[in-house]
Amino acid sequence: MTLSVRHAALSDIGLQRTTNEDAFIDRAPLFAVADGMGGAQAGEVASAIAVETLAAAADEPLAAAAERANARIFALAQANDEHAGMGTTLTAFRLRGAQAEFVHIGDSRAYLLRGGRLEQLTEDHSLVGQWLREGAITPEEAAVNRYRSVLSRALGTEPEAAVDRFVRDLAPGDVVLLCSDGLSGSVPAERLAEVLAGPDADEAAHVLVRDAKNHGGHDNITVVVVQVLAGETSDVDPAASAAEAPVSVADESAGGAQATDTGNDDGSGASAAVTSPSGSRDAPGPAAPRRRRSRRFVVLTVVVALLVALLVAATITSTQVFYVGVDDGNVAVYRGLPWSVGPLKLSRVYLRTTLPVASLASGDQQGVGAHHIGGKGAAIDLVTQLGGLP
Ligand code: MG
Repeated sequence: MTLSVRHAALSDIGLQRTTNEDAFIDRAPLFAVADGMGGAQAGEVASAIAVETLAAAADEPLAAAAERANARIFALAQANDEHAGMGTTLTAFRLRGAQAEFVHIGDSRAYLLRGGRLEQLTEDHSLVGQWLREGAITPEEAAVNRYRSVLSRALGTEPEAAVDRFVRDLAPGDVVLLCSDGLSGSVPAERLAEVLAGPDADEAAHVLVRDAKNHGGHDNITVVVVQVLAGETSDVDPAASAAEAPVSVADESAGGAQATDTGNDDGSGASAAVTSPSGSRDAPGPAAPRRRRSRRFVVLTVVVALLVALLVAATITSTQVFYVGVDDGNVAVYRGLPWSVGPLKLSRVYLRTTLPVASLASGDQQGVGAHHIGGKGAAIDLVTQLGGLP
């Protein structure tokens, strides 16, 4: 069966954070929420890499794209102090026919509303989620536990990511909600079900964000609402949507959103990017700072690659050349170049003599100290002339 969808997404900085580290994809048939973590805006970078990598996945299985995103985030975190320890959640699905392929890691959530019943499709990869599954704490205790934001799994924090993958059949009338913990951590499930049962995906997204803010808005809030419809009535044209629809890094600097959160009555500069049910789309795209950052990263990579190439060339060269120097007070022949790069010496003693450099005339001492680079023959000739070799 062919299904189509009406969908809307909204991301809001909330009321207490200074940056929005959430990102999302609202681009039928692909939908995603990522909630970044890490200091100094590194979380923003991690969640942006996750959604950008997924959005570029084309027909590749989502799990493979998620693994690639993991590798990219991990490599950047390793390479750069500024990004050390960063990571992100990722909860995403792609609709194919009547099937939705999900990938999930972290504590963002996917819910399915079917026949008035709300089912949480994902399990939270958090310490508290684990304790809850083990029966060690109650849901009420979990809701207020001080460790509730500590993740047991995330994208980008380990060389390999343990990403959950599952497939669900969808049917007309279903509503899928993806959200960051800024929503699920503050708005009860019964309320989510009530709001999602409404007719308008766009309105549902706005109401959910407003509810989370009414509950304190402690965290960034991101929601993607997808209503499943029978085939023909859809606004969704997969070909067109692939080109135009937003892959949004939800950042307060990501300007260009047509629809902003009308529930944001404090006017705190919250960001939003919405695909409206009518199919009109705004595409704020990745924020400019992110682009600058990736340009800097490219330049840095090129510089590092050049340095490595130079070092390799120097190392290769250094096996072919010799010079005369001093080892432990005695004249010696060295193989290599008379320099070091950091702790790495580019030469080693090739031949030791018992001729003390101090016994040489001062002109000869200067000749030894000059470290003239040449062939092996020239170096041995010089040592012989100085009387170091028979
Ligand atoms: Mg969060």
